[in-house]
Amino acid sequence: PDETPRQGGLLSRFFGRGGPGSAPVVRRALDDDMLEQLEELLIASDMGVDTALRVASNMAEGRMGRRLSTAEIKGLLADEVTRIMEPVARPLPLFPKKPQVVLVVGVNGSGKTTTIGKLASQFRGAGKSVVIAAGDTFRAAAVEQLEIWGDRAGVPVLKAAEGSDPAALAYDALEKAEAEGADLLMIDTAGRLQNRADLMEELAKIVRVLRKRDPSAPHNTLLVLDATTGQNALSQVETFRKMADVTGLVMTKLDGTAKGGVLVALADKFGLPIHAIGVGEQIDDLAPFDPGDFARALTG
Ligand code: GDP
Repeated sequence: PDETPRQGGLLSRFFGRGGPGSAPVVRRALDDDMLEQLEELLIASDMGVDTALRVASNMAEGRMGRRLSTAEIKGLLADEVTRIMEPVARPLPLFPKKPQVVLVVGVNGSGKTTTIGKLASQFRGAGKSVVIAAGDTFRAAAVEQLEIWGDRAGVPVLKAAEGSDPAALAYDALEKAEAEGADLLMIDTAGRLQNRADLMEELAKIVRVLRKRDPSAPHNTLLVLDATTGQNALSQVETFRKMADVTGLVMTKLDGTAKGGVLVALADKFGLPIHAIGVGEQIDDLAPFDPGDFARALTG
């Protein structure tokens, strides 16, 4: 496990934390050597090489040779990260369309079930009526977990017989959500990446069948990513984009050992909106993504 404390981001690990009682402000010339060190730090934060190099070079542009304090360097890097992250920080858009159909995809263990529970609770809190469909019909344990989260959020969870067709369940759930006048229908899906072709067919069929009832559905396809998987998250986006029309991301487990830089890489590479971040295992542990806070925590 990473023993680096979360507070104090990556630059503090290198430059020291400063603060009261510490040495007077030290300035260092921004030279090739320093730039290289910064690049290494950014890469170590899970930003990936391409993004790290770009962030460092943008930050250094027009400033080479200048003497900068640690605080100034942190500020400049944070600004650069904020600039990349601002366009992707967007809450899940709510449409007047009722029910708004939200398909939730992601590998098993990424936090799909938990995120659906948290979102359902937030929407309920905002006065929306929500229905959840337990679309991972092949995993009884997944359905049970979702029911627990549905109870916590005070939202009904529709399920089907074990092993039955998820697309049929999705269709029934949409019919039911319409009949009940629900504002939102959230559909959980399987996350068996071991069997990609199957999963792709399954997701495609869910979409096809939903559209028989509502040609505009699904209105959102959320990909849930575990931030602790680091650079792996990038390949998951690529994989799921081939299977579904991913419209936005939820990044989970940012309370843990995740170094966070992968979010910058994701924003830089794909530009998909980050609708929310998971910051714990409890029902209220879902926060809007704040680029400034994130950048300051990352660069520390
Ligand atoms: P699923 O298989 O994708 O449905 O994943 P789950 O929702 O079951 O989550 C897998 C594990 O990750 C569970 O132990 C959750 O409690 C945990 N988890 C989910 N989101 C977060 C988060 O934001 N922070 C932390 N610390 N744990 C999370």
